[in-house]
Amino acid sequence: MKDFCYHTTVNKTKKEGKLIIFSAPSGSGKSTIVQALLDKGFNLEFSISATSRAPRGNERNGVEYHFLSPDEFRAKIAEGAFLEWEEVYKNTYYGTLKSEVDRICTAGNNIVFDVDVVGGVNIKKMYGDKALSIFVQPPSIEELRNRLTSRGTDSSEKIDMRIAKAEKELTFAPEFDKVIVNDKLEQALEETEKALASFLIK
Ligand code: ADP
Repeated sequence: MKDFCYHTTVNKTKKEGKLIIFSAPSGSGKSTIVQALLDKGFNLEFSISATSRAPRGNERNGVEYHFLSPDEFRAKIAEGAFLEWEEVYKNTYYGTLKSEVDRICTAGNNIVFDVDVVGGVNIKKMYGDKALSIFVQPPSIEELRNRLTSRGTDSSEKIDMRIAKAEKELTFAPEFDKVIVNDKLEQALEETEKALASFLIK
C-alpha cells in the first residue's frame, strides 16, 4: 500500500492532498452530491480520467477527459502510467493516470474520483487510510428507475440496462467506508459533508 500519493519524486515539503472516491449506480444522485460539495471549501479537485473514446460535442482534451487514441492508451498501459484502467468495449478504454493524481497532490488539493464501483474498491485498496470511499445508494430500485426516467437522458432500453447493472453494483456497497442513502437530498448532502469533514481533519 502507498503511504503517499506521489508516484514520481517530487518535493514533499508541502502538505499532500487526500483521496475521496465516489461510486454509485447511475442515477443515484452522485453527480448532484459531488457538484454541491465543490464549493464548500473542502479544497476538492476532480481527477480527470483518460479515455480512448472520441470526444463528444464540446468536450475538450484535458478538461472533461484526457483523450488518447487506442494505441496511445495501450502504450501508456505498457509503461505502467495508469493507477487503474478498464477496456469497457473493444478499443474503448477508460482509466486514471498516475500523473493526474500527482498533479493534484502536488497542488495540495484533495482528489475526487468519480469512478465505477470496481474502480472505487480498487483505488481504496491501494491507498488505505489516505482514501475515503463513499457509495451513494438510491433509496430503492423503483426510485432509481423514477430518477433515471425523469432525468430524461436515457432511452427505456438504456434505463433497463442501468437498472440491471445497478442490482449488481449494490452488492458492492458494504466494501465502501461510507454508504450514503440518497433519499432526501439535503440530508444526504449533510451526511456526506460530515463524513468528508471528519476524514479531512485526521
Ligand atoms: P448520477 O450522477 O448518480 O448518475 P444524477 O446526479 O445525475 O445521478 O441524479 C439523477 C437524477 O436524480 C437527476 O435528475 C437528479 O436531479 C435527481 N436526484 C438526485 N438526488 C435526488 C434526490 N435525493 N431526490 C430526488 N431526485 C434526486
